[in-house]
Amino acid sequence: MRVVGLHPDVLVATSRVWQTTCTIVRNGDECFVIDSPVFPDELEVLPAVLEHAGFALTGLLATHADWDHLLGRLAFPGAALGVAETTAARLTAEPGAAARELRAFDDEHYLDREAPLSLGQVQALPVPGHCEIGEEELELHPADGHTADGMAVWIGWARVVVCGDYISPVEVPLLADGGSRDAYIATLRRLEPLVDGAAYVVPGHGEVLDATRAAAILREDLNYLAKLPEAELPIARRGEAQRAIHAANVQRVRSRV
Ligand SMILES: [Zn+2]
Repeated sequence: MRVVGLHPDVLVATSRVWQTTCTIVRNGDECFVIDSPVFPDELEVLPAVLEHAGFALTGLLATHADWDHLLGRLAFPGAALGVAETTAARLTAEPGAAARELRAFDDEHYLDREAPLSLGQVQALPVPGHCEIGEEELELHPADGHTADGMAVWIGWARVVVCGDYISPVEVPLLADGGSRDAYIATLRRLEPLVDGAAYVVPGHGEVLDATRAAAILREDLNYLAKLPEAELPIARRGEAQRAIHAANVQRVRSRV
């Protein structure tokens, strides 16, 4: 797991699998951990990363309900989890789904965990809205289309946007179950002004981006989505896994025509 500092109050840890990102943000004596790394050893060192930085955890946040972003409780078992109302609704509608999918991943990769995933107390946050932290607040923006749920988090005083599974340098737009091309495009349009004003953009998967590079990926993704099902994959995202995502996107878009 790689950990980089973007600002005295913002750290980003990146998992070795899918480059899933985990953003640690503090203000005053409050600190939130947004999303999570995936492997057991990465989750195990997360409390030490906070401690080393002098941050004390207030709570967990997740950008959306996909299981690989929801593992914070394995690192901080007592913590409450704050999510968008849309994500809370999805978690209620699919009880145990995240724990089940984590178990399947662990089986496939021969991984042992000390405890099963339990999401504990889930707090539904109004989005658009705000989440207080120290003397400041996090701005919460709706971010659906990849899935039916989700939020992006704007850390205003550091000019960092944590956008969930959008604007990824390693993954093409992925229309999952519950996702929609129109909603995805609307989310990218909403993210555009945040990206333009950002010092850093943290995608759900992949390395942290500066505003120029993020804006270029955002334009590529808008273009890709507009041209589906005939779209070509962006040059930097044409590997086997991306072609499989693309094939599923094509099917999804065709089945809705
Ligand atoms: Zn994801």
